[in-house]
Amino acid sequence: MRRCFRDRLLDYFYPARCPVCDKALVVGRDGICETCTAHIEYIREPKCCRCGKPLTEEDEFCNDCKRRKYSFRQGNALLLYDGMMQESVARFKYGGRREYGRVYAQELYRHYGRWVRQIGAGMLIPVPVHRSRLQTRGYNQAEIIAKHLADYCGIEMRNDMLIRIKATQPQKELSAAERLKNLEGAFRPGRGTEVLNRLPECVIIIDDIYTTGSTLEACSKVLREIGIDQIYFLCVCIGKGS
Ligand SMILES: [Zn+2]
Ligand SMILES: [Zn+2]
Repeated sequence: MRRCFRDRLLDYFYPARCPVCDKALVVGRDGICETCTAHIEYIREPKCCRCGKPLTEEDEFCNDCKRRKYSFRQGNALLLYDGMMQESVARFKYGGRREYGRVYAQELYRHYGRWVRQIGAGMLIPVPVHRSRLQTRGYNQAEIIAKHLADYCGIEMRNDMLIRIKATQPQKELSAAERLKNLEGAFRPGRGTEVLNRLPECVIIIDDIYTTGSTLEACSKVLREIGIDQIYFLCVCIGKGS
């Protein structure tokens, strides 16, 4: 009883917020509010069989994936990266709203929990941030999502498989070619890859946004090089494909 009262009190003073519009929810409610649920765009078919970008018409791959080769097998994203989601992700990353991570993990699990089991993933690996950024921001948003998602899926999350050794320029300011160059040598295998007796065969890399795929490619490449063969990814947001 006492705990219940304490929780209710906490709800009252620190109400759960909808991660999309940031409005406080009615006490006892959780997740994305009804208004936002009606407006956000969940990614559906037809989508690219490689990167998961939504396509306007049925096709195997988007134009980007027809041209490029990736070290990952396939990936999925939850929501279209529109204006609402841009604001949400900005608050999540730079505005201290780390609690959004649990709600997005919940949604990812609801839509892709079955897929995680089907591909037989044994580990979730968040895209790491550089130490200097971790100090200013206080947390890695991808790791928060990965941690909660791993709990929901009942699999392991490791934040020490990859390290970011280069404090890269924010990707959003760069063109696709510059992005790749910016990320050259940005990641290397972390301590986790040394202490594990056996590397997992199948992993999912977790990130907040997929834009050109350069970050996920750079991470996948490092994991492939150390011998992990089946690499997938899951992101909260993704742009439209063509
Ligand atoms: Zn909302
Ligand atoms: Zn694609």
